Amino acid sequence: MAMEVKWCGFDFGQCIMEPGGLRNPLVIGDIYKELGKPELINDKIKKYRRLKEKYGTFSAIKEGHRDEIVSFVLDNDPEATKLFGAKEQEYLDMGDGLVDILKYLQSQGIELQVVAEMKKTLGPVGTDIVSSYLKRRGLVKYFKEIVCPQGKINLENLSIDPKYKGKTKEEGTLYDVLVQELKERGIAPHEGVMIGDKPATDINPAHARGFKTIQYTGFIDLGKSDADAVVNSFEELKTILKKKE
Ligand SMILES: [Mg+2]
Repeated sequence: MAMEVKWCGFDFGQCIMEPGGLRNPLVIGDIYKELGKPELINDKIKKYRRLKEKYGTFSAIKEGHRDEIVSFVLDNDPEATKLFGAKEQEYLDMGDGLVDILKYLQSQGIELQVVAEMKKTLGPVGTDIVSSYLKRRGLVKYFKEIVCPQGKINLENLSIDPKYKGKTKEEGTLYDVLVQELKERGIAPHEGVMIGDKPATDINPAHARGFKTIQYTGFIDLGKSDADAVVNSFEELKTILKKKE
């Protein structure tokens, strides 16, 4: 079944970016070795695990509670915080075939945007995990903007449009603003598609507002959703997505 669209929103965590959560002990280990305090490693790893118990997954901590990584795990140490951001980037992966599909969609004339649920950042916007990842991997040529609860971040000049500030995917308020903004540019919700892994944030609230939705299970399958299609690889998107003229 082909979907004809003009706009395509990609979720970030576990979609564009594969977190490799099992490597967190390595990240923490690297930081405290580099700081010359290897005796702290075990304690820090335990604290990080306690945060995970509190919030369920490392992704949930990173998307909604990054400030607690700094305060609780890293004891507000600015050097450790800076290293955490840098090391984390080194250990993040990219899904198979991602660049290929982005190239393809862009060549079709389909507009691409990152739609992330980043509620808190370490340091100023522009040096956050999503911006840093996209810049480091050369993905800025496909994605000029990140839409997230911090606002709409322009990756070329780092300006921030506050329209989206405080809006979230889960509540759907972020999609409400997106619908409005796309409409002003002549794009109806059904001419847009949202792609992501998580039913409660990427799929169901977007679907309820008329977007087409595709659940990506290439990294993790989070179960049943209202998605119009489910893909296990980015490659499959080539047969599904067509440019709406
Ligand atoms: Mg995700």
